Amino acid sequence: KEESGSIPSNGKEKQENLTQKDKYKLRAKNLLKQRKELPIYSAKDAIVKSIEKNKTVVVIGETGSGKTTQIPQFLLESGMVRNFGSAIAVTQPRRVAATSISKRVADEVGTKLGVKVGYGIRFDDCSSKYTKIKYLTDGMLLREVLSDPLLLKYKVVILDEAHERTLRTDILFGMLKDIQKKREELYHQQKAKRKSNKKKEFEYNQNLEEHSKKKPKVHTFFGENTELNNKESINVNGKHKTEDNDISKNGDISEKSKDLVETTEKDVEELKIIIMSATLDAEKFSKYFNDAPVLYISGRQFPVKIFYTNEPQSDYLDSAHITVMQIHLETNPNSGDILVFLSGQEEIESLEKLISESNNQIAPNSSSGTLIPAPIYAALPQHQQNKVFEKTPQNSRKVVLATNIAETSITIPGIRYVVDTGVHKVRGFDPRIGVESLLVNPISKSSSRQRSGRAGRMESGVCYRLYTEGDYDKLEEDDEPEIKRRQLTSVILTLKAAGIDDVLGFDYMDIPSKPAMKNALLELYSLEALDENGNLCELGRWMAEFPLDPIYSKVLYESQKYKCTSEALDLVAALSVETLFYNPINSRDQAAAAHKQFMSIDGDHWTVINLLRAYNEYRDNSTKVVIFDQVEEQDLVGTPENGNISKKSNENHRNEELDDQNSTKRHKKDNVTKNSQQKMEYWCHKHFVNYRNLTHVIKVRQQITKLCLRLGINPDVSCGDQTDDVLICLLSGFFYKCAMLQPDGTYRSLSGSQTVHIHPASSMFRKKAAAIVYDQLVFTNKLYAKGVSAIQPGWLSIAAPRLYGQKLI
Ligand code: ADP
Ligand code: MG
Repeated sequence: KEESGSIPSNGKEKQENLTQKDKYKLRAKNLLKQRKELPIYSAKDAIVKSIEKNKTVVVIGETGSGKTTQIPQFLLESGMVRNFGSAIAVTQPRRVAATSISKRVADEVGTKLGVKVGYGIRFDDCSSKYTKIKYLTDGMLLREVLSDPLLLKYKVVILDEAHERTLRTDILFGMLKDIQKKREELYHQQKAKRKSNKKKEFEYNQNLEEHSKKKPKVHTFFGENTELNNKESINVNGKHKTEDNDISKNGDISEKSKDLVETTEKDVEELKIIIMSATLDAEKFSKYFNDAPVLYISGRQFPVKIFYTNEPQSDYLDSAHITVMQIHLETNPNSGDILVFLSGQEEIESLEKLISESNNQIAPNSSSGTLIPAPIYAALPQHQQNKVFEKTPQNSRKVVLATNIAETSITIPGIRYVVDTGVHKVRGFDPRIGVESLLVNPISKSSSRQRSGRAGRMESGVCYRLYTEGDYDKLEEDDEPEIKRRQLTSVILTLKAAGIDDVLGFDYMDIPSKPAMKNALLELYSLEALDENGNLCELGRWMAEFPLDPIYSKVLYESQKYKCTSEALDLVAALSVETLFYNPINSRDQAAAAHKQFMSIDGDHWTVINLLRAYNEYRDNSTKVVIFDQVEEQDLVGTPENGNISKKSNENHRNEELDDQNSTKRHKKDNVTKNSQQKMEYWCHKHFVNYRNLTHVIKVRQQITKLCLRLGINPDVSCGDQTDDVLICLLSGFFYKCAMLQPDGTYRSLSGSQTVHIHPASSMFRKKAAAIVYDQLVFTNKLYAKGVSAIQPGWLSIAAPRLYGQKLI
């Protein structure tokens, strides 16, 4: 099996004598061997040269060849970003990829994560001003454009996983092309300006010489280093302008970049763009980026044997379970790990449970060994992601349960068997009826090939496709770019906030549909983000800067008016997961009984608020034990276990002492965290609450709370039990997600006039209300509303006056 990235064991005693810095270096040294074996390593010089020579380069190479982890390091080593404040950004469509890859690269570089190598994902920035390589989600880079319109801190921007054509990566294509052009103009402008300044200075000095013969005292305007001259260069702005005009007559510098040069003091470097992918239409990308050269990295791919099912499978989860068990029982556990592709978190958790149950039935002394399920999906908390990359212990086998994140974004060492269910979750949007959907759909042929490829990274492998060969033939060749099928509200707002007013004329690689554009502009107008002329308003700018979907940020903004920010925070944070409830198939009744205490007659939104309040109350009541632990911890830190330590005056000993104290402190802190974690797990178990999702929601809530504080919104303002206020506040963002009761007992959606049913999982399932608001519509056999609350029709004109005006509904 392939070596994992954990600290190499060089003898425990030896390791203990090393400082932390030495440990980092040692780890990097050991990883260098692995790096050098990657196919990309031999192409190092050619890659660097090509990037040095060209503004934009397209790089294509088999998954696992080393593009994402190595190319940024090659550029770092080449000195391309040696200037202070000059860095490399690498975008990833998924946050799990950004965090896990940055950790790996920090290990390879030999530094602590967050210093030289860092990452940036929503609500979590782990980087510093010294960061040279930053892995960040495409959404985060878009956000950085808003505060740094020319992305001046980056010398190189790498758009990775370009084939995925996510909505945000597609927008970045156009934006970066424009930024590159502006920076090039500015770079030449600054160069010309420096040259002209030098010339003028020379002429001036000559004049001065002649002049000084007559007049001894003169005021200096040109020159670079005196304080006076720095001041002057600001005061004589008008003068600079005329110089700019002079230059623009000679060179071709656009009006726009002229404005920019006056606002930026910083020296501008030209921007390098690298487009990276395992599989893409190289010609299309090269053409879009002004005929950029394409580099092909030859990969190392072993043959993979592919099996199809004879019949279509009615329950692919069940088939996946059986297939995993078959592989496990019929092959040697040391022959390689298993990777299963599923559509989402719920399926992953179900299969994880099924496998654990089967695992318990395998005799402990059986030659098959144990199966270790290791889930990986976007919302998985960071500390739980490591399991996937850890080396599999002898006589056991890892079974990685992944979404399409493991298709091309991350490489998991040691995989030999792939089980492909043939599905993934796809976000869609129908602009005519205003319905957003998240559906489980068949994958494309291209995805299918990538999935099977994961089995043949180190040696020949096997892929079990849980569909027939005939069904494979019917798959689409590629997925449609997201920009053609997603709701555009959020990105249109970002474009507007980035100063791109003509959103219809933007340089899209694939142009989105007119109805989707119209829908987005109308929604932004109704949200009061844009004015009648489509220009960005103050509120729109505020919403663009808030790292949430505009309809959520609107709710938070309005919560100040309704004095319910605490409740709005609960709702917005809870929307970051699919559900907080845990509903196992075989204990539905028990779960329903446990959930009853949270149920609100007003619907699912207040039910969520009740759940979070109940958990907080439990946590607050149980903190007494935790506080006791903390007091004990402080005591221990004050009195070192080894009484002699404090007498040592030697600085080294002092450091050891601090190290010892810190490690005791860390140890105790770990215990406290573990303690409260256990309590939380227990509480979740008792109340049939999804522990992982609750942890995530609490974390997201803390992050949004911090943002609110920074923006002057008091996060603690609560309306107590004023249910109506919270729902009206929710409507100020969710006004499109409403439906009215019909005489036949069904509901009709306000946008699109669709017949909607309340989902059976909703607390409103058997109830009737004149109108409802919902979180999302899902289509299975019928159109269902999920996350539903009862509202009064009259509230709509209060919450969304621009859309529903004063008219009675
Ligand atoms: P690419 O971007 O071309 O798909 P990567 O740069 O992501 O390839 O990965 C290169 C290699 O680095 C992988 O083949 C794998 O061996 C190793 N690697 C990457 N991430 C990890 C990790 N978290 N743990 C262990 N090995 C890793
Ligand atoms: Mg990659």
